[in-house]
Amino acid sequence: MKRYSAFAVAREALRNHTGWERAWASPEPKKKYDVIIVGAGGHGLATAYYLGKNFGITNVAVLEKGWLGGGNTGRNTTIIRSNYLQDPSAAIYEKARSLYETLSQDLNYNIMFSPRGVMMLAQTQAEVRGYERTAHANALQGVKTEYIGPQRVKQLVPIINIDGPRYPVLGAIWQERAGTARHDAVAWGYARACSDMGMHIIQKCEVTGIEQSGGKVTGVNTTRGTIGCDKLGVVVAGHSGHLADMAGFRLPIESVSLQALVSEPIKPCMDVVVMANTVHGYMSQSDKGEMVIGGGTDGYNNYTQRGAFHHIEETVRALVETFPMVARLKMLRQWGGIVDVTGDRSPILSKTPVDGMFVNCGWGTGGFKAIPGSGWGFAELMAKGHSPLTEAYGLNRFYEGRFIDESVAAGVAH
Ligand SMILES: Cc1cc2nc3c(=O)[nH]c(=O)nc-3n(C[C@H](O)[C@H](O)[C@H](O)COP(=O)(O)OP(=O)(O)OC[C@H]3O[C@@H](n4cnc5c(N)ncnc54)[C@H](O)[C@@H]3O)c2cc1C
Repeated sequence: MKRYSAFAVAREALRNHTGWERAWASPEPKKKYDVIIVGAGGHGLATAYYLGKNFGITNVAVLEKGWLGGGNTGRNTTIIRSNYLQDPSAAIYEKARSLYETLSQDLNYNIMFSPRGVMMLAQTQAEVRGYERTAHANALQGVKTEYIGPQRVKQLVPIINIDGPRYPVLGAIWQERAGTARHDAVAWGYARACSDMGMHIIQKCEVTGIEQSGGKVTGVNTTRGTIGCDKLGVVVAGHSGHLADMAGFRLPIESVSLQALVSEPIKPCMDVVVMANTVHGYMSQSDKGEMVIGGGTDGYNNYTQRGAFHHIEETVRALVETFPMVARLKMLRQWGGIVDVTGDRSPILSKTPVDGMFVNCGWGTGGFKAIPGSGWGFAELMAKGHSPLTEAYGLNRFYEGRFIDESVAAGVAH
C-alpha cells in the first residue's frame, strides 16, 4: 500500500485526487485462518495489528457484524488518560497513552492525537483526598500527574466557575500529556495497516455460533458461512455475554447504554478536557468547535444504542453550576453505545474455559484510551499464552477475589 506523505498529497492535488487507493480491502472469507478476531472495534483491530507487527502472525481475519469502528469505538468522547489508581491499570493505560504519542507515525495515518491535558475536578473533600492519593500512586508508578489547586484550575480553564454554591472547585488531578484523538481515525488507521499486512477485515459478517471439538475451538458460524481457525479472540464489548453464551460459559459482565451529546459549534473557549465526576459530566471542545459532553450510563441493563432525552437534562443540569456558559448552548445531537461493565470496573483479557478461545472485554465506559495497550497485551497473550500487561486481568480474579478496584477512576469517569 502506498504511504501517505506530504509528497503524496501534493501529487494527488495535481492529478485531481484520482490516484488514492482504497484504505483497506474487502475480501471474501477464506475457509480457515490461524487467528480470527471477532469485532472490528479499536481493541479488535489493534489486537490484529500487533499480532502481525510484533509476532509475524498475519493469516488473520477480523469479523465485524456491522461496519468497522461502528460500535463504541466510533461513539465515545475520545478522552485519553492514564491516571488510574491500581498498578496493573497504570501499566496498561500508560502503555496505551505512550503508544498514542507516536501512533500516527507508526500507522502512517493521522489519528489527530491532541495531548491538550485532562483534569478531573475535586468538588468534595472526599475527592480531594482521593485524587491526592491517586497523584501519589501515579508518582510511584511513573505516570506523570499532579494535584493542582483551584487558582491553577481557573488559569487553565478561564470559563470555569470555581465558586459554585453547592460544589465549589477545591482542586483537580491534572495530567498534562493526556488528551484526545480522533476515534474513527484510530479504527481506520489500524484497519488500513492490518489490510496492508494481508489480513482480512470482513464487514457485515456476524458471528452466530462457536465451533468446538474436544473442548478446543475450531471455528465460527457466521452469516457468511462457517470459517475455521486455530485461535479465536472475542473483542465485542457490550456483546461479550452473547458470544460467551455461544461458547457455553458465562462472563461477569453487564451491558448497559452510555450516552453523550454535542453542542452547536462555537468559537474556541476551552483547550483542555475537564471531568467533573461528583456532579457527573465532562466536557471538551472538538476541532470543529462543538462542546463534546459526556453523560452517564442508564440505570438498567439494555442494548439500546441510542440517546434518551432525560440524559440531556441530567447532564446539562450537572454541568451548569461549574460551567455557566453551558446554559446558553444549543445541543446538536446525542447518541449511545453499549458498554460492558465488570464488578470491579476493570477489563477482562483472558483465556477462557474453551481451549484456544480468548476474551478481551469489560472496558466499560473508558476503553478508548486503552486501545493500543490492550491490543499490544492481548496480541501477546494470544500469541504466547501469557503477557505481563494482561496477567492481572484473567477471569480467575473473580473466583479468587483478586479484584482490581477502579470504581473511582472508571466507575463514572471516562
Ligand atoms: C458515549 C460513550 C462515551 C465514551 N467515552 C469514552 C472516553 O471518553 N474515553 C474512553 O477511553 N472510553 C470511552 N468510552 C468507552 C469506549 O468507547 C469503549 O470502551 C471502547 O470503544 C471499546 O472498544 P471495543 O473495540 O472493545 O468495542 P467496540 O468498538 O464496541 O467494538 C466491538 C465490535 O464488535 C462487533 N460485534 C458485536 N457482536 C458481534 C458478532 N456477533 N459478530 C461480529 N461482530 C460483532 C460490534 O458491531 C462492534 O463493532 C465511551 C463509550 C461511549 C458509548
